[in-house]
Amino acid sequence: MAKSSGNSSYCGFEQGPIRPPSEAGSLLLRLTRNCPWNHCTFCPVYKGAEFSLRPVDHILKDIDLVYSYVEKLSAIRKSGPFTRDSIAPVLDDSGAHDMDAFHAAMNFIQNGMESIFLQDANSLIMKPDDLITVLRHIKACFPQAKRITSYARSHTVSRISDDHMMRIAEAGLSRIHIGMESASDKVLERVRKGTTKAMQITAGLKVKKAGIELSEYVMPGLGGMDLSREHALETADALNQIDPEFIRLRSLAIPAHVPLFSDHANGTFRKCTDLGVAEEILLFLETLDGITGTVKSDHVLNLFQDVEGTYPQDKARMTDIIRSFLALPQEERLYVQVGRRLGMIRNAEDAKDARRMDHIKETCRANGITPANVDTVIEDIMRRFI
Ligand code: SF4
Repeated sequence: MAKSSGNSSYCGFEQGPIRPPSEAGSLLLRLTRNCPWNHCTFCPVYKGAEFSLRPVDHILKDIDLVYSYVEKLSAIRKSGPFTRDSIAPVLDDSGAHDMDAFHAAMNFIQNGMESIFLQDANSLIMKPDDLITVLRHIKACFPQAKRITSYARSHTVSRISDDHMMRIAEAGLSRIHIGMESASDKVLERVRKGTTKAMQITAGLKVKKAGIELSEYVMPGLGGMDLSREHALETADALNQIDPEFIRLRSLAIPAHVPLFSDHANGTFRKCTDLGVAEEILLFLETLDGITGTVKSDHVLNLFQDVEGTYPQDKARMTDIIRSFLALPQEERLYVQVGRRLGMIRNAEDAKDARRMDHIKETCRANGITPANVDTVIEDIMRRFI
């Protein structure tokens, strides 16, 4: 049951802890706090934080506050670039509580005021009429924004009526990011995702039917060694049925403070090696079929950030990148893995650069990184990014 903040008094502009990587330039508006589910064993984001709905009038006040900064800053920008002196009068007028709104407005302006992201984990859990009120107010204040987007759980979306989804779309919600992670029922149950393959498909099709763009997140590695193949095949099968506009890859990492960490430590969950995940992604991409969406690999945790493209025309190019990696001799594969994980190379082209590769070899030698310990080293690197 969603908890409301009731009549609590307004304490200023709020922002939540995360947004999708593709929303870096978006204005972030917080509609709800934390995650109403919060049981996924791999997810560190909201553990220990209680979910609540924010009162609609507080959300509207946040929007008005950012709007007032956008108006003032836009007026300054018309007469020249932002400088310490030019923005000083705006800062002088700001209360301590308003600084987050000021920075949000500044980021929004500097990124062209094109997109707005609604936080936190599941804005669609709001009463549809409340969400519509908020969306209409956003559209009235920022009519130039081309995109209003939100995270949502498939469990929630699958229960919203088609009529409400249409009205939400008409009010301005233009893209929904769903953390599908997997469509294998075995994987979903084991990681306590609180949804099923059938629900994921229902939710995805409902979003598309309303004319809202759909972005589905997939988590390579989430099936562990035993369910890796099933995870790839079932997830691709669900996505073939949905055909979302975007499929975004975000590889599994296991920080020490999530429940999956103890499963990993006691051997209940056997994590795939980097090589195993590469094979899994290859199988996943090969099984995607009959779709027209775009695969994005825009997360820092991904080994293959260059495996991006649109189906069907880019399928062969994407799968070839992974096949080429898998075909490398063991030692060269090690250098590519370490180089990509440390950001020393970004794509297959970079890996042809002899100077860069010499630098990576030296890094491996200096730090004692070998094929035998590379997965442990990479796990450590990935934890630092979470
Ligand atoms: S539903 Fe999303 S935000 Fe909530 S616990 Fe699961 S992965 Fe985390």
